[in-house]
This record gives sequence, structure tokens and C-alpha cells, in this order.
Amino acid sequence: MILSWTLVALVLVSSSWAEEGELSVSKLLERANRDRVPDLDEPTLIGGDIAVKPDADRNADPCTSTGCLWLKYTDGKVYIPYYIANHYSDRERAIIERGLQSFASVSCIYFRPYQNGDHEWINIESRTGCYSSVGRQGGGQTLSLERSGCLYHGTVQHELLHALGFNHEQTRSDRDNHIRVHWNNIVDDMEYNFYQINTLNQGTPYDYGSVMQYHRYAFSKNGLPTMEPIPNPNVSFGQATQMSQNDITRLNRLYKC
Ligand SMILES: [Zn+2]
Repeated sequence: MILSWTLVALVLVSSSWAEEGELSVSKLLERANRDRVPDLDEPTLIGGDIAVKPDADRNADPCTSTGCLWLKYTDGKVYIPYYIANHYSDRERAIIERGLQSFASVSCIYFRPYQNGDHEWINIESRTGCYSSVGRQGGGQTLSLERSGCLYHGTVQHELLHALGFNHEQTRSDRDNHIRVHWNNIVDDMEYNFYQINTLNQGTPYDYGSVMQYHRYAFSKNGLPTMEPIPNPNVSFGQATQMSQNDITRLNRLYKC
């Protein structure tokens, strides 16, 4: 397998992060990945924070029906080994571990430390920006949580949901019934971030409050909205700071917890 990564620096147009209170995961991700210049061995990102190999078929999802689900143990639980790079401080490590452990209380997903002999695991390290592959890749797969910008509870959950097989809410198969995309406002060559995927929605409704939903101005080139809700354009969305009940429900359904 060829492991050369195509290099693309994401230059995201900033929108107003100077809001009061806690920033949404969507805003945090955009801020962290803005002006990203990846290292030579780092992947191209699509959708803002999804790592892909250059020859991967972006629209091949849902991979979850063809092998990228993590495997269930005989006791009905899904144990996913992780390794946290040692360049994090204790405080940073605690944020990551809290995010990892937050899945066990609401699902059958148990993240556990890497052990000798594990064949598949998540390497959590501070690379350039916040990103993850979608689903299980085999071997060690990098999940980047850059020390500056990505160490928030909801951001950790967001990237872990990618690793578990979930895409962004705004790429859902039924997106056009709930979100109108303003293509003319999107940064040039970033339109693919809004391409729909034939997602398996697990019978859950479209969720403006999903931690996987980007905000109104994501990838805007002119300060105008790139997305608006249907039918009422004033409804707020993309403001989650942690997993929603819908995120949890579909996780449980996908993994048949
Ligand atoms: Zn993402």
C-alpha cells in the first residue's frame, strides 16, 4: 500500500469565534485547523478534520457496512485500544482520557490502553490540527489532537466519533431536507466538504445539536452563511459542546450495543 500523503494546507476563513461562553466543537475545530500546514507524513483532510489517503474514495462511505466498524468482543462490548503520546501534559492527558471514558457510560464502547499484541488501535498524538480517519483502519491509526486548539471534551468526542465511523451531520444523506447549502459562499475548492454521503443514519433524525454538525459559517469565504436550516433559517445549529442524545443513540444502534 502506498502511504505517501498528498499535502493540502487548509485555509479556512475565520468567522466570529469571539462569542461569549463556551465555544462549540464546530468553531473549535475550524479555529484549530485554520491555516494548517501539515507535516510531510500527515494526511490530507476533508470535511475540515477527516483524514484520507490520497487514493481513498471519499464517497465510499458508509464504510461501516464493509469493514470499518470496530469489532465486538464475546461479552458484547467493543474494546478499542488507544495509545496517548507522551508529549502531553498531565492536564492535557486528563482531558483526553475523560473524553475516551465518556463513551463507556453511554454505550458499549470501551476505550482501553494499548497492550502488547493489539493489532488495531488509535494513536492519539499532537500533530497539525484536530483530525481522524473515519472508522477502523487496521494497525495503528492516528487521531491528532493538537496541544493548542484541540484539547476540549467535545473535540475529543468529535474525533473519536469519526474513528468510530461517523461523518459530519451536514453530509448526511437526508441533509437537503434540513440544511440548505449556500454553495456560492463556500471557499473555492472547499465545496467537497458539503458533498453528501450515503450515510447510514440508524433511524435517527437529523440533529442540529449533534457534535458532528458544523456551524452556519463553516468554510465561508465571504462572511455569509454556508448553511441555513430549513424551513426556518433562524434556528440555531452547530453549537454542541459535547455529544447529543442523538449522537449517543446512533452510536448504540450502529454497534448494536
Ligand atoms: Zn470532524
